[in-house]
Amino acid sequence: TGACLTAIEGAGALNAFVHHTGDLAMDQAKAADARIKSGDAPAMCGLPIGIKDLFCTKGVPSQAASRILEGFVPEYESTVSQNLLDSGAVMLGKLNMDEFAMGSSNETSVYGNAVNPWRRSGDETALTPGGSSGGSAAAVAADLCLAATGTDTGGSIRQPAAFTGTVGIKPTYGRCSRWGVVAFASSLDQAGPMTKTVRDAAIMLGAMAGYDAKDSTSAELAVPDFEAALTGDIRGKKIGIPREYRIDGIPAGIDKLWQDGIAMLRDAGAEIVDISLPHTKYALPAYYVIAPAEASSNLARYDGVRYGHRAKLDHGDGITEMYEKTRAEGFGAEVQRRVMVGTYVLSAGFYDAYYNRARKVRTLIKKDFEDAFAAGIDSILTPTTPSAAFGLGEMTDADPVAMYLNDVFTVTVNLAGLPGIALPTGISDNGLPLGLQLIGRPWEEADLLSTAYALE
Ligand code: GLN
Repeated sequence: TGACLTAIEGAGALNAFVHHTGDLAMDQAKAADARIKSGDAPAMCGLPIGIKDLFCTKGVPSQAASRILEGFVPEYESTVSQNLLDSGAVMLGKLNMDEFAMGSSNETSVYGNAVNPWRRSGDETALTPGGSSGGSAAAVAADLCLAATGTDTGGSIRQPAAFTGTVGIKPTYGRCSRWGVVAFASSLDQAGPMTKTVRDAAIMLGAMAGYDAKDSTSAELAVPDFEAALTGDIRGKKIGIPREYRIDGIPAGIDKLWQDGIAMLRDAGAEIVDISLPHTKYALPAYYVIAPAEASSNLARYDGVRYGHRAKLDHGDGITEMYEKTRAEGFGAEVQRRVMVGTYVLSAGFYDAYYNRARKVRTLIKKDFEDAFAAGIDSILTPTTPSAAFGLGEMTDADPVAMYLNDVFTVTVNLAGLPGIALPTGISDNGLPLGLQLIGRPWEEADLLSTAYALE
């Protein structure tokens, strides 16, 4: 813990940690030492980790990287972070992210962007660590902590993992409690671990997951011993390669990485099967209707009364002016865009044309996966992202849809509620990490981790 705190101090330029716990972390570390000495050491005992700023942490500022939650210090702990603390983890602080987890580059944060510790060979351009869990990814990649929590609504664990050469899992929807995690799009949001290795991810997921009566969508299922499941024996497993993920314009390096991954799995004894997920091309548009719709509803609670920031009012201003001024000041441009899109697609005249249609598409996407699994496919291998990490500022000037295209390989997993893991498997010509994604059957994270372990 001491070494991590020193490393964090020296790595201010990465802007990964946005709140520090300092003494509290040292106290937790000492308590963990005592637990270890007494022979009662649970899985995460004494391991210093970072928590994404989207998680409410008791007594520690939790702002979801938004101005509107300025000064908000929760009086309760999210279930996932509590589970980790109960398992002996030491909390070093809160990690940078895109505002309300909306973004793919960590550039919508009120704290300014986190920075990727990686650079292109022979080029000092600062790169994005990805988003929205960009601070988590940068901190793990730079060894500022041993692991971090992330959340993933459309790719926010897996894309930053790919951009920083780390491992990230989006568990099956319902595996980790959403209680105390600031809501973005409630039917898509899931918390998960971000780590250096597949084994670490297995250990941390085991500590985070589990039924929680406070989240009505939490699954009443036992949490398997994920670490014990890491046999690496994938002989006879059927791995699907979806032809719809071979999209135009993906760099040759990503395609080669995918082919190399396929060859590795085949050499390890897996059976490789070409499959079709025919509705894939509708996933991105459906996601960018459903996610903003749910966000506009979830974000209605930020009214300047109950939490955080409230605008200074002029004499004579009423409650409407208070809402308008507070929300105009408190939310950044991307969040405002999502609220506008969301309220539009939910409005009486357009509900059927957009929101209901997107929900129907979502059902079809889910059915594509169900059909593949019913045909005997155990897991599906795809690239995680259509490119390696890009330069800070490079995408923000373009139209927002260019940024949304980052999620092309990841959003299907959220729409279908499936588990997905991103892991580093190669390096680009200019020296950046590249990763592959494995998508699994619902509740089969153990199997997914074991396949990932064989690929690692
Ligand atoms: N980039 C996607 C978005 O902006 C995904 C974000 C996420 O998974 N939290 O909505």
